[in-house]
Amino acid sequence: MKIECPRCQSDLTDTKNYGKKTGGAVGTVAGAAAGVAGALTGAEIGATVGIIAGPLGIAIGGITGAILGGLLGGAAGCATGSAVGEVIDENVLDNHYCRTCGHSFSHKSS
Ligand SMILES: [Zn+2]
Repeated sequence: MKIECPRCQSDLTDTKNYGKKTGGAVGTVAGAAAGVAGALTGAEIGATVGIIAGPLGIAIGGITGAILGGLLGGAAGCATGSAVGEVIDENVLDNHYCRTCGHSFSHKSS
């Protein structure tokens, strides 16, 4: 879909997606932080389950739980952050710019 520049009517326009990129990065960090909490819980659950298998099971269960908790938190945070950033891009920032005249503008998709 081509979006026309409101100033010069050129269709050489592009999106900046600052919000989406920032949101994704912030979300990943926030998600990873939340993931650490999840990792601790995961480690605890893993270690508890691992008790059945003895000391080695506790170690393996704890590590597996920690990794899973961290990864899931980071991935979920990135997705959430990107989604939030996209909304900010579309509604708050002038997400589009014209490559012909350099004009920045927002395009509200109906
Ligand atoms: Zn233009």
